[in-house]
Amino acid sequence: MHTVTLNNGVQMPILGFGVYQIPPGRTEQAVTDALAAGYRLLDTAAAYGNEQAVGRAIKNSGIPREELFVTTKVWVQDTGEENTHRAFDTSLRNLGLDYLDLYLIHQPFGDVYGSWRAMENLNREGRAKAIGVSNFYPDRLIDLSDHNEITPSVNQIETHPFFQRTTDQELMRERGVQIESWGPFAEGKNNLFSHPVLGEIGAQHGKTVAQVVLRWLVQRQVVVIPKSVRADRMAENIDVFDFELTDDQMARVAALDTGRSQFFAHWDPAAVSQIGNARIHD
Ligand code: NAP
Repeated sequence: MHTVTLNNGVQMPILGFGVYQIPPGRTEQAVTDALAAGYRLLDTAAAYGNEQAVGRAIKNSGIPREELFVTTKVWVQDTGEENTHRAFDTSLRNLGLDYLDLYLIHQPFGDVYGSWRAMENLNREGRAKAIGVSNFYPDRLIDLSDHNEITPSVNQIETHPFFQRTTDQELMRERGVQIESWGPFAEGKNNLFSHPVLGEIGAQHGKTVAQVVLRWLVQRQVVVIPKSVRADRMAENIDVFDFELTDDQMARVAALDTGRSQFFAHWDPAAVSQIGNARIHD
């Protein structure tokens, strides 16, 4: 698996497997299938409610721990220094692990400064090999990194053909923050899987729309974590390292950018309030 090198030297696979919206009862099988298909980066979150199932699949796979790259995230409700230490311990216990490869602040809401202090400690102790953020727009990202010791290694943000984040990626690159795409297929919105331009490019390589999208992201040095519960699609989605998009094809995909989220904006007061107040435990 191709890797990227994070700002602290940690190697991260450029393609992994995301488990958002996989019900806990289906997650163990899905992760087992993903590991069998060759995925080594797993992306979960406390808020997904399926960390325990991910942990069971890891344990039963017998794959040596050092071959895996496991990410989870602290939810808004658990931001703050003490809360984040507690949430980290709970996540590790759920996953059955004694360290994480990457721990992320899931949303740019709540006491993210307190969380970051806890995460800097966890990183220094070696319990989180890398630490980062998710859904941070550039203003929030710069504020956090300029006023703390450790610069986030990763910012996991919505990135796909209809919301490409090229300017954001450039700014992150200058600051040493790796971009990671969530929703690489925009969860199929805007008829992504039957998009004529993506389909045409795929036909030129004997590849599917999904493979074109993932290849386009990987070629831009964006880490990707597509989700599927189907083993055939897991195999399809990881099979993107035997072809290359031409400059012209890259430009044709670049022309699909709308510059807008297909979901919600993290600066919209309604979204801030709705997401920020969602509770995941008592
Ligand atoms: P996504 O990967 O863009 O899309 C998943 C959808 O595409 C599912 O409906 C899946 O259906 C379908 N699909 C997958 N492969 C396909 C293929 N080859 N052909 C046709 N359909 C295919 O969406 P996502 O799950 O939202 O994003 C990926 C990961 O990013 C998540 O699992 C999660 O780990 C992370 N994420 C993070 C955040 C955040 O706030 N940090 C937010 C969202 C997501 P089937 O499962 O039925 O195959």
